Amino acid sequence: MQVSKDIFEDFVRIAIASVPERFITNMGNVSVIVADSPSQDQIVESGLGPGEALYGLYDGVPLTERGGYVPPLPDVITIFQNPLQDGCRSLEQLKDEVRKTVMHELAHYFGFSDIELQDLGLG
Ligand SMILES: [Zn+2]
Repeated sequence: MQVSKDIFEDFVRIAIASVPERFITNMGNVSVIVADSPSQDQIVESGLGPGEALYGLYDGVPLTERGGYVPPLPDVITIFQNPLQDGCRSLEQLKDEVRKTVMHELAHYFGFSDIELQDLGLG
């Protein structure tokens, strides 16, 4: 399912707008960006197996691990347009997967592990 970068970025914005307000107030130190595809380094870093697609990546220090320390650079969540497009057959599905990916990566920022996210249906 191919869309323009503008439409894709809109989906990301809609996903962020759907985050409950009590979380938004804590999102001061995280930025969400869109990239076409992950780099080889990012794929290796994510620990995904062969054949698995990387939809998003969280890079930073989770709030739960900071202990009052604020990193000098904002945390970055990257959402990858091409793998998401390849994995989706309709606009609705793409919008939904973008939302799940944004939520999943934001949850890492708030300190959730991948195992906990599986349990919450956000794996
Ligand atoms: Zn994850």
